[in-house]
Amino acid sequence: MTIDISAPRRTPSSALPSKAETPSVVRVLISRFRRQARCGCGWTGRRRLLRSLSVVDALTHAALHGCQPAVPLVDVDIGDRP
Ligand SMILES: [Zn+2]
Repeated sequence: MTIDISAPRRTPSSALPSKAETPSVVRVLISRFRRQARCGCGWTGRRRLLRSLSVVDALTHAALHGCQPAVPLVDVDIGDRP
């Protein structure tokens, strides 16, 4: 089997992604009585009592809307953690 390398590539390697294609970042914010997922696209998740539920909200939103989960996903300041 031979591959014709003279054919142009479908996605040029030098093409930079445009601003419209850059995904928004979703993260989980922790405060004293609320854990809530928020995204750069404007979406705000429901306030949750459990951190794990807000993580599920954030990952579900990222999967359904093409947004990117933040690393680390949960924004925890250890000094303020109860
Ligand atoms: Zn989003």
